[in-house]
Amino acid sequence: MPREEERINLNFSEKLNCNWNRKLLLSYLSYLSPYMLISTIGLVLLKIWTGKNSFIITYSIFLPIFFVLFRPLIQCSHCPYYKEKRFIDPLPKIWKFNFRPMNNFERISYLVGLGFFLVLPLTAQFIGLGFLINNLVIFNNWKIIVYSLIILTTFILNLFFIFNLYTKLCTCCIHFSCPLNRVSKEVKNEFENLYPEYEIMNL
Ligand code: SF4
Repeated sequence: MPREEERINLNFSEKLNCNWNRKLLLSYLSYLSPYMLISTIGLVLLKIWTGKNSFIITYSIFLPIFFVLFRPLIQCSHCPYYKEKRFIDPLPKIWKFNFRPMNNFERISYLVGLGFFLVLPLTAQFIGLGFLINNLVIFNNWKIIVYSLIILTTFILNLFFIFNLYTKLCTCCIHFSCPLNRVSKEVKNEFENLYPEYEIMNL
């Protein structure tokens, strides 16, 4: 590990996640994976039970484009830690590190993409539930009950992901120009005074 990182870790290990590590990665995945899993189950059931496949197709196209290509370009490539590795993501590093902080277009694009990721599965599931209810003669009551439970679970896990991301990871994230970053101004100033090279990247 470079000496500079050692110094950063010593001084800021309590306040900032300066270093990639498995624990951080596992925390992130434990917040994200349950939501992604139940969303996918809901959309697959929607296709099997109602024959509507436009949502699962849209979701399947959106996920790799957003998480593998677009988000790393507009968000992750500006993170100081992206110089060395991915930040808290297990996906491959495919873009060059970008010294410049995220601009407004990138911040808004990221929030729109994240919003789509959070809203699409629930919207699709509600449409699917409406379809099941409207076709009660064809579909069984138990399917409506199961689907309602899936919607409820998706909603809870959606909140679980956002709540934990926002309150546990964004509060000590070194990516200061990310729109969700919630590191206090005092900690940012303290960090930037000690390591001005990071200030250049994230002003
Ligand atoms: S501030 Fe939050 S959303 Fe932004 S890069 Fe850091 S952990 Fe991810």
